[in-house]
Amino acid sequence: MRQMVVGNWKMHGLSAASRDLVGAIADGLGAIPSPPQVVVCPPFTQLALLAPILKGSGIALGAQDCHQAPMGAHTGDVSAPMLAELGVEYVILGHSERRRDHGELDETVREKAQAAMAAGLTPIVCVGENGDQKAAGEDRDAIGWQIKGSLPDGFSGIVAYEPVWAIGSGVPASRQDIADMMGFIRAELVRQFGAAGKTMRILYGGSVNARDAASILPIAEVGGALVGTASLQAETFLPIVRAAV
Ligand code: 13P
Repeated sequence: MRQMVVGNWKMHGLSAASRDLVGAIADGLGAIPSPPQVVVCPPFTQLALLAPILKGSGIALGAQDCHQAPMGAHTGDVSAPMLAELGVEYVILGHSERRRDHGELDETVREKAQAAMAAGLTPIVCVGENGDQKAAGEDRDAIGWQIKGSLPDGFSGIVAYEPVWAIGSGVPASRQDIADMMGFIRAELVRQFGAAGKTMRILYGGSVNARDAASILPIAEVGGALVGTASLQAETFLPIVRAAV
């Protein structure tokens, strides 16, 4: 399976900088003979600006959240059909920062994933244990419950394993930890979805940089990287893209 590198810009990106960043990524991508799949997920406010720029660039557009309803009285929210209309193809759901900042529960994430699929988007559903759960040896339980609770029946999308303690820390999880958890997640996906679970893409996220990407991406079951901080500059993002070839 061709690797995938997804940039999660989080709450970063005014217009000029966003335009420059995708321009530099597109230029860099053009110089790679058979590049991996690249997705950028800017804030909502940049989607309409970037969609026409990205057409034909080999870079797909993703969003960072959507509401579970297609429309309605939900002040401040954005629905999956609204994203699809703009040319958005992917949507990150259940990121630990949304679970933390907005109290998102597995059930809500599951409904959002359903809504995304109904609108023709590919959901990227995030799961990951926090530091306390890891210290208590409860990491597998935590991930197992998140997978059971956050992925709807008939899920067709991507799962991102992001250990919360590794996000923004500058240090990714160890290769051994990643390999162990990837194996566990794969087994859970197969248990829940049968044959479809065998081929679902699983990303690793949490302080991915160029140096570590080269050793993380070849780990069995890793289908790509979900990149935060290092996705904000072409100089740090493109080496990760190159490591994914
Ligand atoms: P960092 O790469 O900054 O650790 O962020 C990871 C992440 O949360 C991507 O969704």
